[in-house]
Amino acid sequence: MSNNKSFVLRGIEDVVYEERPIPEINDDEVLVEVKKTGICGSDVHYLVAGRIADFVVEKPMVLGHESSGIIAKAGAKVKSLKPGDRVALEPGATCHICDDCKRGRYELCPDIVFAATPPYDGTLARYYRLPADVAYKLPDNLSLEDGAMMEPLSVAIHSVSNIGQVRANQKVAVFGCGPVGLLCMAVAKAMGASRIIAVDIVQSRLEFAKEYAATDVFLPPAAETGESKMAFSKRASELLKKKFGIEDRGPSAIDVVIDASGAEVCIQMSIFLAKAGGTFVQVGMGNAEVQIPITLVLTKELSIKGSFRYGPGDYPLAIALVAQGKIDLKPLVTHRFQFDDAITAFNTTRKGKSEDGKGVIKAIISGPGVAVEDK
Ligand SMILES: [Zn+2]
Ligand SMILES: [Zn+2]
Repeated sequence: MSNNKSFVLRGIEDVVYEERPIPEINDDEVLVEVKKTGICGSDVHYLVAGRIADFVVEKPMVLGHESSGIIAKAGAKVKSLKPGDRVALEPGATCHICDDCKRGRYELCPDIVFAATPPYDGTLARYYRLPADVAYKLPDNLSLEDGAMMEPLSVAIHSVSNIGQVRANQKVAVFGCGPVGLLCMAVAKAMGASRIIAVDIVQSRLEFAKEYAATDVFLPPAAETGESKMAFSKRASELLKKKFGIEDRGPSAIDVVIDASGAEVCIQMSIFLAKAGGTFVQVGMGNAEVQIPITLVLTKELSIKGSFRYGPGDYPLAIALVAQGKIDLKPLVTHRFQFDDAITAFNTTRKGKSEDGKGVIKAIISGPGVAVEDK
């Protein structure tokens, strides 16, 4: 059987549909009929640049990793799932035996097989196989679109709850109002943060953030001519603190700063803004190398932490928070496309808006033969 229609990246700006064989599954795996897939910045980056850091597309690769679907087949040893179950797919299969897997940080597994990270195929296909333990059954009150959104939400859960350890009544700042930044704000809110400051350079995105989960928003000023990035970042953070009455210590201070932008000035501002003894989490992937005010890291005893994908417990928490109504994913899905229009979906995400001028937060592609209205 080979009617596994797939959206394949062959090289830079070169995508085609291919009929591929339906994957065979092992006893501990499930075969999922993919129904909804969100497009991620990383998918677009592979299309445009053919690589992300050291991950280079060297042979044709199916794109997509933010998916939900319905179990088509379950392996002989799978007890938790059966054909027909609706699931969110955590798109990384880990080895279970390396040091990192065994100490509960499987996102660091050197042998992880991660969807649409070269050389491994992604989920923009009719069928995708994965270990049963990373296919999570969706509660009845969640849609398949919600299921696809569990991937970026889990990225946010990992950075805010797991790595950043945000707790009730804390003050949090989030740089970047793209899907992950917005979801970080939603998670901070769900964890009980009392103040969530969103920072972005686009006013309309800030307005959305305020409507969605932020308590306050900040649009940094323009840089002055001849002003260094560091001088700008210092000045912009001072302005932010003044605007919201934030001190370096005490109840107004910012406990946790999350950078979901990857921009150098945002990283610098984050370090200026975090309170003495506070935490800074890097979740956005952007500039590979940046300059930071390291003396401040020392004198404030800041914890600087990296956050990569998601680990144990992140998907279950993501699903639980949405099922309980603590996080609403629906406002983030702005565009929907049929499988045959995948390239339009990519181009729309790339441009940041559709022909009608509507800004993109998340575009979702339906599986082959699945109607766009079928949520
Ligand atoms: Zn993603
Ligand atoms: Zn491992």
